[in-house]
Amino acid sequence: MPTNDLHVGIVGAGIGGVLCSIAIVRAGGRVTILEAAQQLGEIGAGIQMTPNVSRLLIRYGIDKVIGNDLVRFSELNMRRKDGTKIGYTKIQRVEEATGSPWWLVHRHHLHNGLVEVARQSGVEILIDSRVSKLDRLQTGKVAVETEKGREFEFDLVIGSDGVQSIVRRTLFPEVKPRPPTGNCAFRAIVPYEEVRKDPLTRELVEDENGNLIKTMEVWMAPTGYINAKDFNMVLSHFRDPPVDTVCPVDLEEVRRQYDGYDPRIRRIIEKIPPGVSRWPLLVTGPLESWSSPEKNIVLLGDAAHSMTNHMAQGAATSMEDGAFLARCLSLVIGGKATVGDAVTLYEKGRMPKASYKQQVSFLNGWIWHLPDGPAQEARDKEMEPELRGEVPMRSPNLYGDPGCVQECYGYDAEKHADFEISAFLNDGRAVRDGAAIQQERADQIANWFLPDGEHYKIASRL
Ligand SMILES: Cc1cc2nc3c(=O)[nH]c(=O)nc-3n(C[C@H](O)[C@H](O)[C@H](O)COP(=O)(O)OP(=O)(O)OC[C@H]3O[C@@H](n4cnc5c(N)ncnc54)[C@H](O)[C@@H]3O)c2cc1C
Repeated sequence: MPTNDLHVGIVGAGIGGVLCSIAIVRAGGRVTILEAAQQLGEIGAGIQMTPNVSRLLIRYGIDKVIGNDLVRFSELNMRRKDGTKIGYTKIQRVEEATGSPWWLVHRHHLHNGLVEVARQSGVEILIDSRVSKLDRLQTGKVAVETEKGREFEFDLVIGSDGVQSIVRRTLFPEVKPRPPTGNCAFRAIVPYEEVRKDPLTRELVEDENGNLIKTMEVWMAPTGYINAKDFNMVLSHFRDPPVDTVCPVDLEEVRRQYDGYDPRIRRIIEKIPPGVSRWPLLVTGPLESWSSPEKNIVLLGDAAHSMTNHMAQGAATSMEDGAFLARCLSLVIGGKATVGDAVTLYEKGRMPKASYKQQVSFLNGWIWHLPDGPAQEARDKEMEPELRGEVPMRSPNLYGDPGCVQECYGYDAEKHADFEISAFLNDGRAVRDGAAIQQERADQIANWFLPDGEHYKIASRL
């Protein structure tokens, strides 16, 4: 079987770009990453690694490198602004139904782990290399130039250069990422010990026997919400006019914004150390295409489909893109398809999925910010059975809604790519027929309703 040498240039060493580089090397390709920053790293606070991507971290051995910095939590509590509990998800149930863990990790630890595995795999990462120009050559290759005048030629260029992507601006200059509403977010971390030693806040992190518990807590209100996991906090609020850049804010403003909330979370906000920023929530697309007409330049992650953060799926979706695209490129390396075929398969599989994630993220933001009234009352009533330990067929608590759990967290990007590849190799007919896929999905959803401990038996069959 012929094997082709494939040299891929990735623009941007963010979470999406670095994971993609690891997956391409695993598929047999060569990768050079060009990163604008003068040193590698990630700013910001914690990030959720939901089961759809924790399974990739495990497969690629990245979890081993990050080690104990991957934190597991036990439950999700949905609350009204005053702290009253209205919904509940046992995280173990999601993990068992999807067959993979749900972690929280600091961005910095995640990124370090990705970079270490990429380097060990032989990925070349060039820092201080801001890409300023791309040219599609007659030969079918792509020429890339950095601001400092270095020149490269690649068989394929992947633009994983974030929401202000130069690659996207080159391909689609008319596209402008925008905040869909005035909604934006502060991000902050309060050390766990600070929360634990304060008698008012202790009960949020300790059980009645004084054992440490790690939970995800959401306080919902019309003018904002607070999502705190391990006291990594995302504090949603609204600004008029909407903001489109990250900017530092005064702590007094953060405190004022959450006046009238549960006294426990107000006390935790008082403990936020200085250095908080306001983050815009910019949405890109959905675009009609993610690639150049020759299909030798393609977008990935926020560059293609930045989304609101309400389902914690932005980075996760970038990682899924990378895993999927690499699987398609394995066809090129194996001599069974052209780069154009691989990019077409990638767009066919990933564009609808990314668009779904954008929609469900926006929807969850709407649910969490409902004004007091009939819709909010209906939301709270629908979640109520969760407090009695029941598992409703559908729930507005989307982190625990069975359909949403399977669509977001049960998804396996590599498995999906293999399905598209098998269809491609069989002239459009998938090897596994649609009925088998439907059955698998039905099994996964049924799985959600099994008593605790029964999930793995079924998950292991899938
Ligand atoms: C408040 C908030 C909370 C969030 N929480 C979560 C969460 O819990 N879970 C989750 O999955 N997602 C979350 N997200 C979303 C997530 O942060 C992004 O979706 C993710 O970081 C995108 O990754 P990326 O690799 O596509 O792009 P980026 O992380 O933006 O990386 C782009 C990289 O490209 C580089 N670059 C830019 N221009 C150039 C150039 N010209 N040449 C070379 N390099 C260049 C940049 O320096 C950067 O390193 C959250 C977002 C916000 C705002």
